[in-house]
This record gives sequence, C-alpha cells and structure tokens, in this order.
Amino acid sequence: MGRGHNRLTGVAMSILSQPIFHDEKAAYAFLESIIWPSGPICPHCGGFERIGKMGGKSARIGTYKCYQCRKPFTVKVGTVFESSHVPLHKWLQATFLMCASKKGISAHQLHRTLEVSYPTAWFMEHRIREAMRAGELAPMGGLGGIVEVDEPFIGNDRTIKPHGEKKGRGYAHKHKVLALVDRKAGTARTMVVDNLKATTLTPILTDDIAHEARVMTDEAGQYVHLGDSFAEHEFVRHGAEEWARGEVHTNTLEGFFSIFKRGVKGVYQHCAKKHLHRYAAEFEFRYNNRVAHG
Ligand SMILES: [Zn+2]
Repeated sequence: MGRGHNRLTGVAMSILSQPIFHDEKAAYAFLESIIWPSGPICPHCGGFERIGKMGGKSARIGTYKCYQCRKPFTVKVGTVFESSHVPLHKWLQATFLMCASKKGISAHQLHRTLEVSYPTAWFMEHRIREAMRAGELAPMGGLGGIVEVDEPFIGNDRTIKPHGEKKGRGYAHKHKVLALVDRKAGTARTMVVDNLKATTLTPILTDDIAHEARVMTDEAGQYVHLGDSFAEHEFVRHGAEEWARGEVHTNTLEGFFSIFKRGVKGVYQHCAKKHLHRYAAEFEFRYNNRVAHG
C-alpha cells in the first residue's frame, strides 16, 4: 500500500483488503451482482433468456455470449469501465479511494497506489468523476424548503498558484463557481460559470430552484431581483459583518465549500477551468453521499 492511504481510516483500510479490490474474478462477480441482480442481460439486444457464460482457458474473465443476437459481452459494457485495459479490480480500488478519502485523492497518489501510469490514473479519475456527475435533477427547495446560494471563488488565487505564473492577479483570474445547498435535504449542487452577472446567474437559479423555495444569499447586487422568481428571498449583509439573522444565513454552504477549497488546495493544486466542473461534481457527490460518523 502506498503513502496515498494515510488519510484513510482503519475501516477503509480493512475494506480495501477485500478480494474485489485485488482479484479480477471477484471484481467481476461484485459488479455483476450490482448491475445484474437478477442475472445477466445482453447489452446489445436486451435478451436475458439464452445467455451462456464463456468458459475454457482462452475465454476472458466475465465474458458471456448471447444466443439471441450471437454477440459476446461483459458487465463492463455501458459502464465507465468499458473498453479500458485497466483491470476491473483496480477501477474498483480507484472508485473506492475517491469516495472514501474526505479530500479526494490526486492522480499522482492513484498512480503510485494502483501501479498504473500517471496518464492512466489521470484518465481513470476523470472517468470516475464523470460518473459522479448528476444528470437531470429536480429543482432544489421544493415544498417551500430553504436554498442557500453563493458563488465562492475557486482556484488560481493567491494560495492556488498555477505552476510558472505570477501570484495574485485579482478576481478576474479566478474560476467562478455557483453553488446551491438545499438546507433540509442536505444536498449541494455546483456549476462553473463564466461571470457573476445577474443575466448569467438568474436563468440558472430559476431552472435549479423550485419557485416555492425560500432563497438565502448575501447582499450581492446580482441577487437583488430574486424575490420576483421565488416565494421568498432573504439576504445577510456580509459587508456589514452580519453572518446570520435567525434562519437567514448561508452557513451551510460555507461548510460545504470549506471542504471543497481545502480539497482543491491540498490535493489538486492547480484546477484547470475545463476540468473544474468535474472536481466540483466529485466534491458534490461525496457531500451528497456522506455518511454521518457517530
Ligand atoms: Zn443479445
């Protein structure tokens, strides 16, 4: 085990010793049990009645043949693991490591831990992040729930300096992320935006937040007219050092972002804008799927 494991708990370490992370047959059996709980289904024709497992020495692990359409397949078809030369047990390790470590794991750590090349580790991380990205989502704050909205700057600032660039060039140089937290559901949603103008942000917010929601922001100018779109819009005056007024605050979102910022700074160092949405999705996924440790 490489040094990349040192931020994992003992529980995570013992999980990693399971056969699915080291044995290719066990890894396939595990994935099959999740994707095909009632037995194999042909990804080409949808058939499930006339399917045979390919045996013999020349057959690759996990290969089935559909006798309806006569095509071979494995459980990886249609998943992010499809058509990769990396063994499935290493994919499962990578996925587990990315979900289990609070701040994520860098491609460099993954490269050392899995004993794959650095480009392969980088590719795996991005594939897994793509899988973590949520697809079409219901608006947040349904049934009159509270949604906190903020747009913390991420990356390329004084503390997160790209290699070879001068420090600190003001706000224009930073990536802009819009973040939403549904306070009751405890879920976060993030998106990378080109700018923070009302004309950019308002259409996103009206798409992603239910009209009956109560929206909490700071006093920034781009939010002035949000009251027209939602049941309620309240804001705290951060400029006047007002951080909370009863239910009116964005502290839940600050909590989410403090983890995100530490992760970006500590693990990824340099966040290229074209990949930032994936990093954001990864943190969003961990936040939304977190388990409370009592
Ligand atoms: Zn078939």
